[in-house]
Amino acid sequence: MGSPLSADGRPPTVDRRLPTTDNPRMASLLLKPGREKALLRRHPWVFAGAVAQVKGRPAAGETVAVLTAQGRFLAQAAYSPRSQIRARVWTFREDEVIGPDWFRRRLEQARKRREGLIGPDTTAYRMVFGESDGLPGLIVDRYEDTLVVQFLSAGAEYWRETLVDLLAAWPEVRHIYERSDTEARRLEGLEPRTGLLHGHPPERVRYRENGLTFVADIFRGHKTGAYLDQRENRKVVRTLARGRRVLDVFAYTGGFTVHALAGGAASVVAVDVSDEALRLARENVAGNGFDPHGVAWVQGNAFEVLREMVREGRTFDLVVLDPPKFAFRADQVPRAARGYKDINRLGFLLLNPGGYLVTFSCSGHVEAGLFQKIVADAALDAGRWGQVVRRLFQGPDHPVALPYPEAAYLKGLVINMSR
Ligand code: SAH
Repeated sequence: MGSPLSADGRPPTVDRRLPTTDNPRMASLLLKPGREKALLRRHPWVFAGAVAQVKGRPAAGETVAVLTAQGRFLAQAAYSPRSQIRARVWTFREDEVIGPDWFRRRLEQARKRREGLIGPDTTAYRMVFGESDGLPGLIVDRYEDTLVVQFLSAGAEYWRETLVDLLAAWPEVRHIYERSDTEARRLEGLEPRTGLLHGHPPERVRYRENGLTFVADIFRGHKTGAYLDQRENRKVVRTLARGRRVLDVFAYTGGFTVHALAGGAASVVAVDVSDEALRLARENVAGNGFDPHGVAWVQGNAFEVLREMVREGRTFDLVVLDPPKFAFRADQVPRAARGYKDINRLGFLLLNPGGYLVTFSCSGHVEAGLFQKIVADAALDAGRWGQVVRRLFQGPDHPVALPYPEAAYLKGLVINMSR
């Protein structure tokens, strides 16, 4: 290999103080023979089982050099002693120093990439999407002048103060709140952490999405407060809704409901198990000038609610199914598949001929092909026939780095149903 060029085509400036393979101050992970393949393809994870030896005594989150069994440099990565993902790569270059300047550049790149991807009628979006933005374990969602961040890996945790300082320096940022209370953090051996990081973040943030107004509870809501990943798909529902009787299942704070109303739905029934979510959904409906009494709100277990609706012979022209993650691990896929099949079968049974089923899975372990197969089985069981007219995906602020297909977790199908 010749000497690497930096992204702007200039040769990198080599700093000899740098943590390199021959830098005795930097700890290193020596891989087992043949276990460098994923890293050579630029996948950012080093699994515990691939590590032959840890040289030095790296603390959790510290930068280590990852080396082949022969001692050749592969990457600089954040060490995570308690996780199955033993290290996450910051860079595949030996001549970069992982530190405040490096993080400033990576954050700026992530921020710059969003320009032109998010329309002016939207003020909440994911600014940093972890591995896909070259910042493993770091999530930053922006709601107008408030950032909600998650430090989900030992490496992100190690650099938390640096990262907060850098984010707080952006002119558009007034408040930063932490929501590091996810399962991913536990797997890294880190305690959940939430709270104020900068400014005086309001409990409820107001933001616009596709020209509509929403509030999110950033202290207690799901994820960082809202499901920003569905923004583009809500537009699809808005377009389909005109004159239709809509059923929004797993409605949360009403993202699809509000878009269906904005698109001219004849009526909307919104179902969710969470009272709190439905309260905010009502506010979001009212906040856009629609009568919250015009929506039928059903608090309950969607599986039971839909079964009951089928028994009662109710029908709709557009059904949205956006369930929570059913599979957190690969071994949960069969059980998840049964859940998806059941809810989709009920969805089909509630649709009038000519109606649309808009159905999602946010389980990364259930791949798009498998999901379509499950939905096809559900249609078969329901005695219905349909066509996929659109495939849906997470929004462009949740990009998928080419070497890291795991980032593609949200998939959806728009199905035009016949009998
Ligand atoms: N469609 C929403 C996001 C849905 S997230 C949006 O566009 O913002 C999944 C939702 O399912 C959560 O609000 C959760 O409260 C709800 N939920 C989880 N299990 C449920 C169940 N068994 N029945 C009904 N709702 C459920």
